[in-house]
Amino acid sequence: RTVYVNGQYLPETEASVSIFDRGFLMADGVYEVTSVLGGKLIDFGGHQARLERSLTELDMKKPVAFDDLLEIHRELVRVNEIEDGLIYLQVTRGSDGDRDFVFPDPDTTEPTLVLFTQSKPGMAKTPVAKTGLRIVSIEDIRWGRRDIKTVQLLYPSMGKMMAKKAGCDDAWMVEDGFVTEGTSNNAYIVKGNKIITRALSSDILHGITRAAVLRFAREAQMEVEERNFTIEEAKSADEAFVTSASAFVMPVVEIDGAAIGDGTPGQRAPRLREIYLEESLKAAI
Ligand code: PLP
Repeated sequence: RTVYVNGQYLPETEASVSIFDRGFLMADGVYEVTSVLGGKLIDFGGHQARLERSLTELDMKKPVAFDDLLEIHRELVRVNEIEDGLIYLQVTRGSDGDRDFVFPDPDTTEPTLVLFTQSKPGMAKTPVAKTGLRIVSIEDIRWGRRDIKTVQLLYPSMGKMMAKKAGCDDAWMVEDGFVTEGTSNNAYIVKGNKIITRALSSDILHGITRAAVLRFAREAQMEVEERNFTIEEAKSADEAFVTSASAFVMPVVEIDGAAIGDGTPGQRAPRLREIYLEESLKAAI
């Protein structure tokens, strides 16, 4: 696999970053994951806009211009012959060659930019989309700026492990009695014709897939209600689902052992998945 590190395309075994990099020492970095379908980038503009926002919120420099980033994505897709898969992009604050809590001088310290691809042939046709996910609820004990897509993924990783231990696929996190989001996705319930999901705030990541799916839901004459919901309400909903750049729209069929609806993906989540894949493929670049 060829990867990109700070201006260079290299075999993955030859790519390196300083051990003093603040991404490594302090999780001082942000990331984006963009899907590739049919060799094209899904919602690149959305991911780029969120990356810029994450960088701004953390007072980090933008490593390269939008056009260059697009070119790097396309080059990695080309050289690695990615038909379907993901592109991972990470920007960290870099380092001035020592460990210090104080940020290094931005005039003399360059951010570290790393990109790599993950090939996932046929990922839009994964059989899980037909059977749905089984979810456990866990407490949300992450920091208060979940709207910034930082590489601090220890707790979400622990959440996935808790889910696995419970024989489930993923976890939904709960704060003050209300669902915030999934470990790596936004969470939704469906009641009748209504799609319910938590409103945007610093409590959750502003999903790029979320924005697109809510738009498509409205266009398909579904009602959208952005408000808090509890695990109890989710258990008695007609359907539930999650969204993310890598899972698209994925039905949820069980929460804490309780079947959602009749325990199958239902109607609306699969329909939204279909619309999302169709429309975002049309708009892919
Ligand atoms: N929420 C969290 C915590 C995530 O990590 C992610 C994606 O990684 C999402 C939501 C979904 O965001 P997007 O649709 O932009 O992938």
